[in-house]
Amino acid sequence: MKFVIIGGDAAGMSAASRAKRSRPEMEVIVLEQTEDVSYSACGMPYNIADADREMEDLVVRRADVFRQKQGIDLFTGYVVETIDRQNRTVSGTIGHNREPFRFVYDQLLIATGGVPSSPTCRDSICPASWP
Ligand SMILES: Cc1cc2nc3c(=O)[nH]c(=O)nc-3n(C[C@H](O)[C@H](O)[C@H](O)COP(=O)(O)OP(=O)(O)OC[C@H]3O[C@@H](n4cnc5c(N)ncnc54)[C@H](O)[C@@H]3O)c2cc1C
Repeated sequence: MKFVIIGGDAAGMSAASRAKRSRPEMEVIVLEQTEDVSYSACGMPYNIADADREMEDLVVRRADVFRQKQGIDLFTGYVVETIDRQNRTVSGTIGHNREPFRFVYDQLLIATGGVPSSPTCRDSICPASWP
């Protein structure tokens, strides 16, 4: 059983850890586009406000701990660009060289977070001050 997870922050690494705990024989693969996993976005405002705080302190658990202690196949610098649901594959590129990769999955979790959007304003209910 191959469980592939796209995104290695709060949701992705929680799911990966839980999957490995409940089914140690399962092959759990995490593909994260940055070099950082499991960092505390919630702590960022404190670091921005206080120049003496180290950015490293935001990292809750390092990539190597997930790899070595938990047996999760964690790949950083892997940007997923395509999901082929019919053939059950994810593919994309690695790092600056943009070398291609492809993984086959049995189960897939997309844990890529959210993107904020501004609400649109319909004319009839739009206040004059709306930007
Ligand atoms: C400043 C700030 C303060 C916050 N404070 C709090 C708080 O006090 N309490 C609270 O509960 N929550 C807080 N949050 C929210 C909390 O950080 C988020 O809810 C949480 O990080 C969401 O986790 P996630 O894994 O769903 O998504 P994300 O943290 O967004 O992680 C998604 C991951 O997917 C990766 N990814 C995206 N696309 C791809 C791709 N194509 N290929 C490979 N990887 C990809 C990204 O690089 C990222 O690492 C705060 C957030 C911010 C920014």
